[in-house]
Amino acid sequence: MKLNPIYTQMGVTIFEKMSALCREGDRINLGQGFPDDTGPPQLIEAAARALRERSNQYPPSAGVPELRGAVADYYARTQSLDFTSDNVIVTSGATEALAAAILAVVNPGDEVILFAPTYDAYAPLVRRAGGVPMFVPLHPPHWHYGREAIEAAMSSRTRAIVFNDPLNPTGTCASAEELAMLADLCVTHDLIAICDEVWEAVRFDGRPHTSLVAQRGMAERAVKIGSAGKIFGVTGWKIGWMCAAPEMAAVLARAHQFLTFTTPPALQYAVAEGLADDGLIAERLAGWSHTREALAILLNDAGFAALPNAATWFTCIDLPASGIGIDDAAFARRAVKEAGVATIPLAPFYEACPVTTVVRLCHCKPEPMLAEAVRRLAEFRDGL
Ligand code: PMP
Ligand code: GLN
Repeated sequence: MKLNPIYTQMGVTIFEKMSALCREGDRINLGQGFPDDTGPPQLIEAAARALRERSNQYPPSAGVPELRGAVADYYARTQSLDFTSDNVIVTSGATEALAAAILAVVNPGDEVILFAPTYDAYAPLVRRAGGVPMFVPLHPPHWHYGREAIEAAMSSRTRAIVFNDPLNPTGTCASAEELAMLADLCVTHDLIAICDEVWEAVRFDGRPHTSLVAQRGMAERAVKIGSAGKIFGVTGWKIGWMCAAPEMAAVLARAHQFLTFTTPPALQYAVAEGLADDGLIAERLAGWSHTREALAILLNDAGFAALPNAATWFTCIDLPASGIGIDDAAFARRAVKEAGVATIPLAPFYEACPVTTVVRLCHCKPEPMLAEAVRRLAEFRDGL
């Protein structure tokens, strides 16, 4: 019996591994990214209402009209994107959107530019589509995108880039110049951009999120992916979407059709209500801004060196600058067992030449939990 080697040689994700270790005992999970609360009550009420009062049968494959319209309105309002429902295909989380987009875009033999650190789903999906990932490393502390390094990874077979902005795990955002450069590269080399923008609403730099899709020449050659899980802090809901020019969206819809076909309707109706509620979205962001600040102060007071970040639920710490002489994998493995605090090492976000001096902490937790986690981590460091 020969199963596909992509999967036989793969372990569970570092996120699953860390969360499983936390279920074993009295451990604090600053690993996998999710808020500690159960989600906004009004969103949950909207979902409960929809479960009781609306259809629980198959919704349209592309999503309920209410949500497709709400996503288009949200982007028109917040990012000045000229979208209608025809641009939007609802998926079961951004993960499914990534799978559908990669399956629809990548043909066997195509090369796809991925930036490292790379979110874990990208390379296996590219390979399963028959493509070849070409990694372009980014370097701490700023993780800038350099045109020369990208062009050096390109060939006549390069067909697409996958671009995650804001970037998980670093929490950094591309600059206006970097967006313009990436768009120019895509236009010049006729590439499709798969833009994973799930962290677009979790920005703390006061700048409105600007999509690569909004750059000149990109509207016809980009797929923009979003997730309600991140906007509202309901990661278990798995409501996502992909947006593209209507002709491309129609093709993406065919890939989605035979992955999950459709997505639970009650959650779609609830997210449609949520996306119309700017106050709720601002309230969520304000809460995470507070936890981000709280963790920064706690880390600083305890002598940990945080790297600059401007977005996401994550703050990275530089281990050597924090007085820690072991690498990220050893730190994460030992910290969860010996200090009872789960973190995420950066090495698993690389296939070659990993950055091994940085670990990621999730900040969207109650302040006492953050304080206890930092206390335990400092004690662990001091005992090394
Ligand atoms: N892309 C990135 C960069 C992410 O960080 C995540 C989840 N943290 C996802 C995709 C997956 O999103 P979803 O849970 O909506 O599938
Ligand atoms: N994206 C989440 C994170 O970065 C994890 C999602 C998952 O576990 N697949 O923590």
